[in-house]
Amino acid sequence: MSLIGKTAVVTGSTSGIGLGIAQVLAKAGANLILNGFGDASAAIAEVARHGTRVGHHPADLSDVAQIQDLFTYAMREFGGVDILVNNAGIQHVAAVEDFPVERWDSIIAVNLSAVFHGTRLVLPGMRARNWGRIVNIASVHGQVGSTGKAAYVAAKHGVVGLTKVVGLETATSNITCNAICPGWVLTPLVQKQIDDRAANGVDPQQAQHDLLAEKQPSLAFVTPEHLGELVLFLCSEAGSQVRGAAWNIDGGWLAQ
Ligand code: NAD
Repeated sequence: MSLIGKTAVVTGSTSGIGLGIAQVLAKAGANLILNGFGDASAAIAEVARHGTRVGHHPADLSDVAQIQDLFTYAMREFGGVDILVNNAGIQHVAAVEDFPVERWDSIIAVNLSAVFHGTRLVLPGMRARNWGRIVNIASVHGQVGSTGKAAYVAAKHGVVGLTKVVGLETATSNITCNAICPGWVLTPLVQKQIDDRAANGVDPQQAQHDLLAEKQPSLAFVTPEHLGELVLFLCSEAGSQVRGAAWNIDGGWLAQ
């Protein structure tokens, strides 16, 4: 399918899943606005090799004013946003009674509130053009819990709920809003959890196997490319009646 002439914002796309999704959308012809921390030049170069226009905005999504700046930049430089992939996310693992309050606040801000802000800021333009796609990268943790992940699980359940509301509020338009719920994907966010296990003296390969075996029956990671192709489907005409869904892609995690 072709996304030529469309502009996509993918938050948190300087690494991991967001970068993978951005590449698939650029390959399909979309112009891309990347966002995220760190040196963005490598990510920009990787996405730009598909030949479409690529920009980057460094907004910290825990700050509402910076989120506003990101979408002002998108309007000024690209003329608006047709596809919004709310992907940026952070994690912290601790028991609820030990959970640092500032980590709770930042996880809710980045993983949940930023999805609300991005959505409210792009919807008027999408309604004016009567076309849009909002895809929220939630998690299996938007549907089930795991110990130690209070803020993350609360935020991701919130994203799934918000997705349903936006899906309903746009139901009679050519705008759709859906959530994708990945299982384990081997990115820096998950590598840190493997490293934490290995730090306790476990062999790194064994630590990786143990992480998968606890939850993911396929014993294989989902990849950023798998997720990019699912986003692409949701952007297609065939995906136009998928609305308010929470679509798991998880090696069987949620089938148990
Ligand atoms: P990652 O750590 O590799 O990448 C996160 C991206 O978000 C980076 O580009 C980072 O710069 C950016 N980011 C972090 N905080 C930010 C902030 N305050 N403002 C702007 N950008 C910020 O993580 P990932 O594994 O690729 O995760 C991407 C999304 O997928 C997250 O929402 C995560 O919850 C979700 N997810 C990941 C997995 C997994 O197994 N990796 C599974 C399910 C869901």
